[in-house]
Amino acid sequence: HTSIVNNTVSAKKFVFSKRFNGLPQHDNFSLEVEELPELKAGDVLCEALYLSVDPYMRPYSLGWPLGTTMKGGQVAKVVESKNDKFPIGSLLVGYLGWRTHTVINPDIKSKNFMEEITQLPELGSLCPSVGLGAVGMPGNSAYFGFLEICKPKPNDVVVVSGAAGAVGSLVGQIAKIKGCRVIGFAGTNDKVKWLENELGFDRAFNYKVCDLKSSLKEAAPNGVDCYFDNVGGPLSVAVRSHMNDFGRISVCGAISLYNDTTPTLVPCVEPAMVFKQLKMEGFLIHRWTNRFQEGMSQMLTWIQEGKIKIKETHTEGFENMPQAFIDMLKGGNLGKAIVKA
Ligand code: NDP
Repeated sequence: HTSIVNNTVSAKKFVFSKRFNGLPQHDNFSLEVEELPELKAGDVLCEALYLSVDPYMRPYSLGWPLGTTMKGGQVAKVVESKNDKFPIGSLLVGYLGWRTHTVINPDIKSKNFMEEITQLPELGSLCPSVGLGAVGMPGNSAYFGFLEICKPKPNDVVVVSGAAGAVGSLVGQIAKIKGCRVIGFAGTNDKVKWLENELGFDRAFNYKVCDLKSSLKEAAPNGVDCYFDNVGGPLSVAVRSHMNDFGRISVCGAISLYNDTTPTLVPCVEPAMVFKQLKMEGFLIHRWTNRFQEGMSQMLTWIQEGKIKIKETHTEGFENMPQAFIDMLKGGNLGKAIVKA
């Protein structure tokens, strides 16, 4: 698909052209064409195969100047190379942004994890897009964010919010591997069925329609030991007040607040924290950058052993990046949201 006009290669890219106000809209992005430079020694030209749309793009955008090319991960194929280590056909994964083609020198290492480019690991028969999901950043967020912070023990009762998404669906399955009882909250009845019938969650609820307090009481009559929180807001208030003494909370995200334009009443955290002596810790995944290989190879092994099932929701066509991003924020995805270029 490489577009070559007058011997120069051009890329299509989405630029952040207007600040978000609430849920992102199409006019927050503009589709532009960029002429790419000629390759220098060490450079490769790569073409996006799969691109990631992730919740973090919404809060992180607060720090991006207008005119920034939208940031994000992609799996890309080398289509021209002046680098022996990355011959034509090599697959790369990294934060190349919302763009179809990129000229880079993958040998130049950046200190900024948002600029890191690496060779896609050997994935056997799996689709390369898993490098953006279960065998990539979201997989590692589930692996390290849950195991290192919640420190689950067999028979612990674990609650996961955002349970049918990229990270949450993996956390619940890791918790089952560790011998825990797992309760998930997600936003549609179909997601609830998927969690209970296919992923092995012990119970799941649709947080949009269930009574939070009585659902927790019914599914966890003896209280909750670990909470992996992807969403924040009222659901998290309910879970915290149902925790057992010395419960552990891993705060991964707060998606229920990302598009919130109305001043939010601060949910009352302190009483549960004090009287139940809870430990609550937020994390950013790059805390474990130096252990990424460990996380990815464990996730890959569990997938290949059939212990973890993965699902991705693919949107076709690079032009549909904004739509896929909006759909994901509205809950349209089961598992990881991916755009196939
Ligand atoms: P998901 O695949 O879970 O997609 C987002 C999901 O959020 C939607 O499918 C939707 O599902 C749910 N959602 C949207 N609005 C609300 C709401 N108001 N209340 C509750 N749920 C809502 O995304 P990821 O797995 O990639 O990310 C999950 C969370 O983890 C995010 O908060 C993200 O920011 C965070 N994260 C943090 C990282 C870190 O380093 N700390 C790394 C990666 C992710 P539903 O139908 O259930 O509503």
